[in-house]
Amino acid sequence: MIKEARLTINLDSLAHNYNSLRSKINPETTLIAVVKANGYGNDGARIAQELSKLGVAYFAVAYAIEGKILRKAGIEDSLMVFYPQLAQLEQIIESQLEPVLYNLEISKAFISLLKEKNIKNYPVHIKCNTGLNRIGFSLENLESFFKEVNSPLIDIKSIYSHLGFSENPKPCAFTKKQFDAFELIKSKVKELCPSHPKFHILNSSGVFNYPEHQLDAVRIGIALYGFANNPEWNKTLKPIAKLSSPICQIHFVKKGESVGYNQGWIATKESRIGIIPLGHADGIGRQYGNGVGKVNVLGQTVPIIGNVCMDLLMIDLTSVDCTVGTEAIIFDQNFTASDFTASANTISYEILTSLSPRIKRVYV
Ligand SMILES: *Cc1c(COP(=O)(O)O)cnc(C)c1O
Repeated sequence: MIKEARLTINLDSLAHNYNSLRSKINPETTLIAVVKANGYGNDGARIAQELSKLGVAYFAVAYAIEGKILRKAGIEDSLMVFYPQLAQLEQIIESQLEPVLYNLEISKAFISLLKEKNIKNYPVHIKCNTGLNRIGFSLENLESFFKEVNSPLIDIKSIYSHLGFSENPKPCAFTKKQFDAFELIKSKVKELCPSHPKFHILNSSGVFNYPEHQLDAVRIGIALYGFANNPEWNKTLKPIAKLSSPICQIHFVKKGESVGYNQGWIATKESRIGIIPLGHADGIGRQYGNGVGKVNVLGQTVPIIGNVCMDLLMIDLTSVDCTVGTEAIIFDQNFTASDFTASANTISYEILTSLSPRIKRVYV
């Protein structure tokens, strides 16, 4: 019997996903494991340690603080930081992280910091914008970078871009345009950059949809955790996490009584209500309230009722013969995080990365 809410992480499933993905990728292509946002909520340090044992030698996080945490946990492999900010550059060097330079400002700032510290040949990566229009050098600024900013103080390990619609069925005109733009960047770089950086553009869904664009490396996040954003591709993977909790109280309400804040739910008949110690502070947002989200109790699907509170939520147990302590499953390998989030029009990424640190992580 479980005694508190927990996220149970299956390390065999993680190994299965890694091996399945590795078998899809050319032997000479590097698999960069993306463990940002605390390893998509699963505990970045532990996930990185396991992946390291499985053979991963390149990791990526979003911000410097995440890299620092992985270093503290003993991860010694190459660690790229996708979105370093000006105030984090010192930390990047202190923790021996590899920053991604994505515009002229951050590049100049980083190079002058290296000069100040008298450091040469520091590994960095370059991000280019090919149509997502989020972060990265335009082709024009990339040319300025190579003509005016590039310096022997940095060693450009790789140049990459990011797809905006990689899960969309082929042919996809938008994605084709991104690939074409990246080809242009590659030829520019070959002309302007004397070292030979590696090139990469695929994320998880990209690996499934466009294996012919693997290039030198792929950056895989969500697929390691068991999702590929397409029901067919998902079949080759196993969701690694299960979120469950004991029911911590059960009570009866009479017809006409209300449950929760703002009288969010009114009983239309005598009902049994179960309380689960998870709320919006744990990542189960208010959008799952009022019957939108459903959980599984003893094989039955029951609705979340009323408004989700900060620390607790309520379910309708009228049709289920269970007791305090019975396990309620929010998502697992059968009813997945992707299924749970679909009801609220969001995606597995969001719920996984929102799971609060106060939910106990258990590894099996
Ligand atoms: C998060 C991220 C990834 C990983 O994407 P998935 O869809 O989780 O595989 C890859 N590249 C960049 C730049 C990212 O920010």
